[in-house]
Amino acid sequence: MTKKIAVLPGDGIGQEIVAEAVKVIKKLQADGLDVEMNEAPVGGTAYDISGSPLPDETLKLAKEADAVLLGAVGGYKWESLDISVRPEKGLLGLRKELGLFANLRPAILYPQLADASTLKPEIVSGLDIMIVRELTGGIYFGQPRGVKTLDNGEREGYNTLVYRESEVKRITEVAFDIARKRGKKVCSVDKANVLEVTEMWRDVVNEMHKDNSDIELSHMYVDNAAMQLVKEPKQFDVMVTTNMFGDILSDCAAMLTGSIGMLPSASLNEKGQGMYEPIHGSAPDIAGQNIANPLATILSVAMMLRYSLDEAAMADRIEKAVDKVLDDGLRTADIYSDGMKKVSTSEMGDAVVTAL
Ligand code: NAD
Repeated sequence: MTKKIAVLPGDGIGQEIVAEAVKVIKKLQADGLDVEMNEAPVGGTAYDISGSPLPDETLKLAKEADAVLLGAVGGYKWESLDISVRPEKGLLGLRKELGLFANLRPAILYPQLADASTLKPEIVSGLDIMIVRELTGGIYFGQPRGVKTLDNGEREGYNTLVYRESEVKRITEVAFDIARKRGKKVCSVDKANVLEVTEMWRDVVNEMHKDNSDIELSHMYVDNAAMQLVKEPKQFDVMVTTNMFGDILSDCAAMLTGSIGMLPSASLNEKGQGMYEPIHGSAPDIAGQNIANPLATILSVAMMLRYSLDEAAMADRIEKAVDKVLDDGLRTADIYSDGMKKVSTSEMGDAVVTAL
């Protein structure tokens, strides 16, 4: 049956990089990939058209799709809007409405780009980590939350870190499943020495491990995990952690690679439906100049093929094509170094299509 992809370019460079990813999908369609693409606005672009960063038609399209390809949202133009209609609400709304509880963020360092990292090449060369972050629970969503004024007039701010056993189980299951397809190692990151919630998290992960004993499991406190990520990052295969710890550690891991324009991400729900997007934002500083790196978005399509569309061979083809263009010395401005060939956004997209 024809699978459906909702294409949501969003704002800023989102428009340019998604156009290149669409070229790649069209090439694969010509080679037999049975998918249908439908495009809709989201973020500031959608607000300008309809007054909402997530119009009903866009949400409907996303819900009916097997997978969503998102560019990025946000920009200077919409920063002064009320928080309820800011572009970011479009993204949060999609995550919530689609129930995307598992955020997969790979940090891969292509050997061709080892110099782009601020760490020594021998520490990071060949790095390939997958961070599995819980995305719909924890302290970002826990109630009660807010700021209140105490009797003495002082303000007190509070948030609640809360996880149910079932939430820990489903994210752990995702981590074990992914590890099984990779290096078969999972490191669960918590703060079990201080936070009861994550002491329970650790217990649940250990219980789940009884039925997943083919996977090598370890546990690490989050402060140590942050340290180990910069000290000896190649010790990790899959890391699984809470929403806030994952937010911080995945940015840290991404920066190990030194090239924000190269990293894709996936967010999955219980039905295997997913939203796929580059980890970077809408880069308003370079929008409209045809200089953004489209590879993170193109690699997001590879993740989409692998995790939501059951087309692993097509995913492999995209990843090999990206490898080939890097081998050929093609570089957008963000990853350019002396001796390489500087190309525009659209030239990079064309080169990947040719390599395919
Ligand atoms: P950003 O990721 O957009 O940009 C950070 C820096 O990286 C900029 O200098 C930018 O030019 C560069 N950069 C990013 N992607 C690039 C690419 N593909 N090629 C070359 N260079 C690239 O982060 P920011 O500047 O903090 O945020 C800009 C806007 O994006 C804000 O409105 C923010 O809210 C939004 N944002 C959206 C998402 C999302 O949609 N998922 C994520 C992060 C930020």
